[in-house]
Amino acid sequence: MDVKSLYAEILNEHNLNPSHKGVMQDASLTLRGVNPSCGDNIYLQLKVDEKGVITEGSFNGSGCAISQASVDMMLDDIIGKTTEEALRLSALFTDMIHGKVSDDSALEELDEAASLKNISFMPARVKCAVLGWHTMEEMLKNGKSEGQGQASHCNI
Ligand code: ZN
Repeated sequence: MDVKSLYAEILNEHNLNPSHKGVMQDASLTLRGVNPSCGDNIYLQLKVDEKGVITEGSFNGSGCAISQASVDMMLDDIIGKTTEEALRLSALFTDMIHGKVSDDSALEELDEAASLKNISFMPARVKCAVLGWHTMEEMLKNGKSEGQGQASHCNI
């Protein structure tokens, strides 16, 4: 299977059967992320235990296929990780999406999220791909527990 059809297949699968779509009643952190340029609007929820491990995660909201699939893949990557590791992966993903990672082996730990690498050639879609990751970063760095914060991603 070539890279393009693998990308399409993974994207499709996460849209049809998202693993993490839903509302969590007892989340430790909830933050809304919006990408006005595309109309993507997500609510990301994480449960973080006292050791700083992300034990559960979910998202809901609406948006394009890339934004929705990307946040679902992100949750696959970060559930079970510490918040520090999640932030490191987020930095790696962001570098990848901006075309700054030339060594593909560095992307292995992103698992399926690495299939979005070629978004770096589609500048209009970059904000869609990073929406979930940036919302997660903002949430972990600010420790917001209410859904009032509004992530803005217009500076890329
Ligand atoms: Zn989008």
